[in-house]
Amino acid sequence: MLEFAAEEDMPTIRTLSTILFLLSVILNVSRPATAQSVPPPGKLSVHWEELTAADFREGIRRSRGTCLLPFGILEKHGPHLPLGTDLLDVRYAALHSAEKEYAVVFPEYYFGQIAEARHEPGTMAYSRDLQLALLQETADEMARNGCKKVIIVNGHGGNEHLLPYFAQTQLDKPHDYVVYVFDERTPSSGGPTKKTSIDMHAGESETSKVMIARPDTVHIDRASTESGADQHRQNLPEDVYTGIWWYARFPNHYSGDGSAATQELGKFQMDWWIDTLAKTIRAVKTDEVSLKLQNEFYEKSKHPLDTQP
Ligand SMILES: [Zn+2]
Repeated sequence: MLEFAAEEDMPTIRTLSTILFLLSVILNVSRPATAQSVPPPGKLSVHWEELTAADFREGIRRSRGTCLLPFGILEKHGPHLPLGTDLLDVRYAALHSAEKEYAVVFPEYYFGQIAEARHEPGTMAYSRDLQLALLQETADEMARNGCKKVIIVNGHGGNEHLLPYFAQTQLDKPHDYVVYVFDERTPSSGGPTKKTSIDMHAGESETSKVMIARPDTVHIDRASTESGADQHRQNLPEDVYTGIWWYARFPNHYSGDGSAATQELGKFQMDWWIDTLAKTIRAVKTDEVSLKLQNEFYEKSKHPLDTQP
């Protein structure tokens, strides 16, 4: 046992460890570079969780305080796509956009609105209060770390009301940062001709995009084993909203026909998503107006009677 080694043994042990150390240096030098290697000067990861503390400081400087919060969900996506489809797609788009126009990208976030899928396996549906509280604290903590421009990149249709509401409620009390919501995923025109007309969830477009983001998770052979047709089970005027509307129309959590998907369509839509988001990052980086107006608004809100028309 080492702790009882006689004095005279120590030099031998030291010599041995020196040889071992030299060997490991030689072996490391001859090994090819891996993904874990130190990035070359000027190259910074866009992944928040991969940066060292010092590199994070540099990332915030380089991004001018612009950070992305890609927002996904865990819910059924037809019979053929993974539960994390929205998260996989939105992170693929966000990470590639940030590579084009540097921004720091927050880790996996999927704590949104998905009450309408609670009857399906694998759905994580957090309560309303927690969704808002967690999002607020996440944004607050991002801002405390220098992200004065938080772009929420939405990957999930069920968040379409939650996110603008969240952004609006930032006016409730002063914040030293701005929340921007980017909620585009699919171009309205252009690219390969689509074969289907109903295409809202796990359909032609979404399936095509997963074929680019994570092709290994797509089970295209199962795409026709359930119906994604609109079942029209409610008879109400179009301008009346109920929370059960989605279940009324698409109870299988499938809207469209994923078997029509192609990689060609996926590439077109994903490239469009990445380019459009990169342009948005660029615009947000140079936005000097929003925070100034917010501060002016907060100040005036303290004494509304003094506000002149
Ligand atoms: Zn989806």
